[in-house]
Amino acid sequence: MQCKKCELWKNRNNVVFGEGDLKSKVMLIGEAPGLNEDKEGRPFVGQAGKLLNEKLLSAAGLERNQVYITNVVKCRPPGNREPTEEEVEACFPYLNVQIQFLKPKLIITLGNVATATLFRKFNLKLDSMSQIHGKVFNVSTLSYGRIRIIPSYHPATALYNPRILSIMIEDWKQIGEIIKTFT
Ligand code: URA
Repeated sequence: MQCKKCELWKNRNNVVFGEGDLKSKVMLIGEAPGLNEDKEGRPFVGQAGKLLNEKLLSAAGLERNQVYITNVVKCRPPGNREPTEEEVEACFPYLNVQIQFLKPKLIITLGNVATATLFRKFNLKLDSMSQIHGKVFNVSTLSYGRIRIIPSYHPATALYNPRILSIMIEDWKQIGEIIKTFT
């Protein structure tokens, strides 16, 4: 991908577009690639990705290859800073196409940036993550159809915080129960 819609192209090694099952009903959306993701061109391959695979997806009874994983921003912000609003807006057309193509029944937003972005796009009222994590928000639009959005803490938050990790594991168990109702 030759994208130069924002300044992040200048420092990137790889665009991290997303990966997973293109027929999945479940889409995970993170913030932006980090160092390892930029090197490999794949989302969530570092420490946070390991925790996502081994603790969270597994709590939901899922294998990583059963979901589709992407980020709000497809190129790494220098020093892993948060992406700016301009970068999020510039990159949004890609996420938009991904959602329209996949037509997920469930989107799990990983962390504050993904949650704020999706809530803004769907005109949902944003509250703090401590209030909204694990809750189901139903949206319905012409271009996407009916989607449930469940905000989750970012997996990196749980790396050094066992209290958050146990909250997240409970949330992801609930997510697993919801997914069972899809078939
Ligand atoms: N954090 C993210 O939000 N996305 C990744 O792909 C890796 C870490």
